[in-house]
Amino acid sequence: MTTIAIVGAGFSGTLLALHLLRNCAQDTHVVLCERHAQFGPGAAYATGNPNHLLNVPAGRMSAFHDRPQDFLEWLGAQDGTAMSVAGSFVPRRYFGAYIRHLLLQEIKRPSNAGRLKLVRGRVTALAEEADGFLLTLNRKRSISADFVVVATGNFPPEPPPGADPALLMSSSYRADPWAVDAFGGLDPDAPVLLIGTGLTMVDGVIELLDRQHRGPIHALSRRGLLPRRHPVNVSHPAIPARRQSFPTQLRALTRLLRQESERAEANGGCWQSVIDQIRPFTQDVWLDMSFADQQRFLRHLRRWWDVHRHRMAPNVADRIDQAIAERQLHLHVGRIDALTLTQTGARLTYRPRAGGDMATLDIARVVNCAGPGCDFERLIDPLIASLLETGMVRPDRLHLGLDVTATCALRDREGAVSNRLFAIGPVTKGAFWEMTAVPDIRRQCEFLAQHLGTLSKTMPPPQNPTFEDIASA
Ligand SMILES: Cc1cc2nc3c(=O)[nH]c(=O)nc-3n(C[C@H](O)[C@H](O)[C@H](O)COP(=O)(O)OP(=O)(O)OC[C@H]3O[C@@H](n4cnc5c(N)ncnc54)[C@H](O)[C@@H]3O)c2cc1C
Repeated sequence: MTTIAIVGAGFSGTLLALHLLRNCAQDTHVVLCERHAQFGPGAAYATGNPNHLLNVPAGRMSAFHDRPQDFLEWLGAQDGTAMSVAGSFVPRRYFGAYIRHLLLQEIKRPSNAGRLKLVRGRVTALAEEADGFLLTLNRKRSISADFVVVATGNFPPEPPPGADPALLMSSSYRADPWAVDAFGGLDPDAPVLLIGTGLTMVDGVIELLDRQHRGPIHALSRRGLLPRRHPVNVSHPAIPARRQSFPTQLRALTRLLRQESERAEANGGCWQSVIDQIRPFTQDVWLDMSFADQQRFLRHLRRWWDVHRHRMAPNVADRIDQAIAERQLHLHVGRIDALTLTQTGARLTYRPRAGGDMATLDIARVVNCAGPGCDFERLIDPLIASLLETGMVRPDRLHLGLDVTATCALRDREGAVSNRLFAIGPVTKGAFWEMTAVPDIRRQCEFLAQHLGTLSKTMPPPQNPTFEDIASA
């Protein structure tokens, strides 16, 4: 019998489990470990707020690339009406329910009886054994596995620079924007600061507006870039690209995207369609790009790429525009100098990007919406800390996640490639860059399931004697 343990049951871990059950031999068992109560939705799709919408149209959110209608069909079966329109942006919690439904179906399949074990608990450490791994979980439990896949997904943002530790420890600061209590217990007239101006900040503003918050909402980032909106009219004509290829030199690629966007707009199309045309190829382009260009991209263009690539649903964008027009939402552009605890909450001092004197703001609560933390050496997470400490993994050289090969195998501290320890999802962004959205992750899960299916058949059987066993015999 072969056991494959998956750490994390968000979209990535859950989908991988489904594919493993389908791809691996009948004597392969899958153990899916999740620290939270729900298996399936993960951080992105657990939100209870019906106005937190998918930022990808429903028609592109199928869990299976070869069955593109699957999510739409499931939506249609729920209420059979407008919700199942391919271009619509539906509540994210529906997608969470869809993933849970897929998991349940798989559990019920008679051929899977006894092959999938759901373990609720936090994996805190991993130890190599002669015949695989021993996973340590909270409440003094442990699991043995032949293969392990790290699918721990998105971590909360890193603490803001210049923040007073006393503030970070206080109830005026919320480190995790996805936690249920991030916006709870606030005076509706109190001023709030959201750090960051990306999609997480957008979620935060929607949450506050839905809670009838009346006080000022401040959002601060170094460049003040807001995510762009999806076009309302998705039937814009697709303007075919003039070239059949994408350059992998950053300068040439940027020039091409600019020119094509201008041409699309001039011909009655939209720039969004140009970005969408490169999406299926972004991983190939990234893998071929020189390290120097990857660094340049992250330093100078990353924020621009993010706001054009990860866009707001039109309804959401309308509400953000309205909050700005009504002067409830204030966007500040600058660099944090200090963030300190006060009698009434917190005080922000920042240096405006436009120059001039330091600016200050007094706020009742600070919510860190700066986007997922990905510098693994700075994360506060027992499992990641233990993996790094024992040298079983290392950060990728761009510090976007963990160092993996093109086949998702983790590299250890010396760079050696593991044949039993793998990673999927946002953890692998350093290797693939675009490994965030469902269309990218679903392909990765399919691929890794096939790969592990083959490996589990061809790997030597476990219980090989160790050198110590032989020496002492
Ligand atoms: C707020 C938000 C909205 C998004 N919206 C969209 C969208 O509309 N469309 C889209 O395509 N993409 C969206 N994304 C991108 C999203 O990253 C992916 O779609 C996908 O959900 C990532 O899944 P994941 O399983 O890798 O990570 P996660 O969803 O973060 O799941 C990881 C899971 O691992 C568990 N875990 C972590 N550590 C441990 C441990 N040590 N032991 C046990 N369990 C552990 C966590 O509890 C969590 O459930 C969004 C992301 C976010 C953050």
